[in-house]
Amino acid sequence: MPPVPKPSKQLYDYLVIGGGSGGLASARRASGIHGAKVALIEAQHRLGGTCVNVGCVPKKVMWNAASIAEALRDAKGYGFDVQGKPSIDWNYIKTKRDAYVKRLNGIYERNLEKDSVEHFQGFASFVNPTTVRVQQTETESFEISAKHILVATGGHPIIPNIPGAELGIDSDGFFDLEEQPKRVAVVGTGYIGVELAGIFNALGSQTTIFSRTKHILRTFDEIIREPLLKEMESVGVQFAFDSKVKSLSRASTSGPIRIDYESDGQAASIEVDCVLWAVGRAPNVQKLNLEGAGVKTNEKGHIVVDSYQATSSEGVLALGDACGLFELTPVAIAAGRRLADRLFGGEAFRNSKLDYENIPTVVFSHPTAGTLGLTETEARKKYGDDQIKIYQSKFTNMYFSMLEHKEPTAYKLVVAGPEEKVVGVHLLGRGSDEMLQGFGVAVRMGATKADFDNCVAIHPTASEELVTMR
Ligand code: FAD
Ligand code: NDP
Repeated sequence: MPPVPKPSKQLYDYLVIGGGSGGLASARRASGIHGAKVALIEAQHRLGGTCVNVGCVPKKVMWNAASIAEALRDAKGYGFDVQGKPSIDWNYIKTKRDAYVKRLNGIYERNLEKDSVEHFQGFASFVNPTTVRVQQTETESFEISAKHILVATGGHPIIPNIPGAELGIDSDGFFDLEEQPKRVAVVGTGYIGVELAGIFNALGSQTTIFSRTKHILRTFDEIIREPLLKEMESVGVQFAFDSKVKSLSRASTSGPIRIDYESDGQAASIEVDCVLWAVGRAPNVQKLNLEGAGVKTNEKGHIVVDSYQATSSEGVLALGDACGLFELTPVAIAAGRRLADRLFGGEAFRNSKLDYENIPTVVFSHPTAGTLGLTETEARKKYGDDQIKIYQSKFTNMYFSMLEHKEPTAYKLVVAGPEEKVVGVHLLGRGSDEMLQGFGVAVRMGATKADFDNCVAIHPTASEELVTMR
């Protein structure tokens, strides 16, 4: 269904700015379940936002491809006759992946229609706290008003301000690559840097990661960080630690990109075919005229909200990446649905809000890493050393018993107090991505170490280690 060109009503109950994970979920809940009059504005000509178009979904397709490359590597160890080094047809998978994303865009359109949400394409900015201007083309715009306005505008990749930075691509550009680059440099070692470098490397690109510290995934527990770093090194990823990229340059339009950088205080340079900036993301708030609506932001530009997603301006709400707390799709969705329940669900939902504690999250590295709750360092700081006990296990998954290459598996439980309540779960190893969800339920229910131990193990699995730790 093409977007409705102009509003059909004078005043909506709910106006949602942003047709990404959080905005779509909130709009559909408000209209489809609670019967509110809802309009949604999306700047792009496709719905779904970051996750569907340039995030989780196409990333997971590429991670799956990388996992197949690894399975082919391992197949020989199990007696399969795999000749030579398998290679991927990058353009083939990109074309198929794009078609899949396009199908999802269509499903999102139809879902809005099914739930009677009016959808307008255009760029929204505030006129005042209850009215928004929607710029549809350079010359065409209209104004639209609502009792409640939700800002769910997401974020965008940061490009550093150094000479030649524009020669690099960001994560959006990763999904535009038509061909696989032979030599890649990835700058940044957060979620995106680690995930995309892992994909490039597994698919056969020579990959170098630039870290401004000696770490990757700096904010994660060391039981994840350290073995993962060793594993990445052992499969051929190169690292420039304590490095600062100074400039990018290119002698000819089709030639390699030269990176001049400093590492451990020494000047150095390398040549690559592709530089990928993965140095963090910033909220999409610049052109929203938030001041015009009286909406406050913090020093990083994120919209300041209370635990009910309310901003400093009455009637204006915000959630998801625009607010910068747990920038994850299911978080934006959950916050959006609970908010719609609170606004339009009546008395039963008066206190509906998302609890931001114990949110499980996974890095799609090789192997995957899952984390939930407090790291050991955070727990010691919060509860004190004498209140914290650590259970951990490092071992080789049985899958690798037939293989020369052994990936690490490392698990840690952080427990607090005499009752040994589980306050942190940190997993690295094959299958951690699928394993963490169930443990997330247990931790939310207040599980103790004894509850873990009382659950009979499933054998032979890696996860059984989590209920048999001594
Ligand atoms: P978005 O989904 O970004 O939606 C915001 C929408 O608002 C966009 O469509 C934008 O066009 C629109 N918009 C912006 N400004 C305006 C305006 N003024 N007017 C109208 N429309 C506007 N999360 C996970 O949970 N798992 C993953 O595996 C994962 N992988 C990721 C991989 C990558 C490479 C990236 C970049 C992110 C990944 N994320 C992942 C994060 C996830 O994509 C985001 O947390 C999520 O999309 C945030 O949802 P949102 O609704 O806040 O914003
Ligand atoms: P992150 O904040 O996770 O990581 C940013 C990285 O960039 C850090 O390693 C940081 O280093 C580094 N960095 C920052 N500035 C510079 C600089 N000037 N030079 C060199 N390095 C720099 O951001 P991402 O963009 O990777 O991801 C954004 C968010 O998206 C994530 O926090 C996550 O919430 C979400 N996401 C989730 C995924 C998932 O669920 N699987 C996948 C992808 C994204 P330092 O560590 O030293 O600060």
